[in-house]
Amino acid sequence: MTKEEMWKATFENDASYDGIFFYAVKSTGIYCRPSCKSKIPKRENVCFFGTSEQARKAGFRPCKRCRSDLLDYQPMKEIAEKAKQLLEDSYNKSCDLNLEMQKIGVSYRRMAEIFKDEYGVTLSEYVANLRLVEAKRMLSDTEDEIIDIAYSVGFSGLSSFYRFFKNGTGLPPAAYRKEHQK
Ligand SMILES: [Zn+2]
Repeated sequence: MTKEEMWKATFENDASYDGIFFYAVKSTGIYCRPSCKSKIPKRENVCFFGTSEQARKAGFRPCKRCRSDLLDYQPMKEIAEKAKQLLEDSYNKSCDLNLEMQKIGVSYRRMAEIFKDEYGVTLSEYVANLRLVEAKRMLSDTEDEIIDIAYSVGFSGLSSFYRFFKNGTGLPPAAYRKEHQK
């Protein structure tokens, strides 16, 4: 990120950059997350740090308002890996991914960008692939009813599962099972 980009994120209180960098204000001696709602400092008083630790070492104190000390720097790769793990753990459960992503410390929108950069697929493409692989495995390796398979890979109904499966494999689930069941 350039300083101009960081300043813009600071100015706009852009939470999608929380954890990516911190800004410190020379006149107050305090450092903040980009999203901090405290008064926007003057540009000439601001400097930027990649990590909370760097800001502290430079003599700045964490902001009590945005608790910039609680947020550790997370390189993009680490963020992307956490997201990937999260998707693998929860792709078949009904949970609010948006909310889960926020626990990692960056917004969903920002996460989507980081993930695409790192893995070359979108979050939803990645989830779709996880579902497809597991559905195929269950169809060929188990005797489970197709409706149960649909539920267990995260679909709420049969028709959406059929459409999804046929799109991904060219075959309806039952035909796929017939061809692949051992
Ligand atoms: Zn702050």
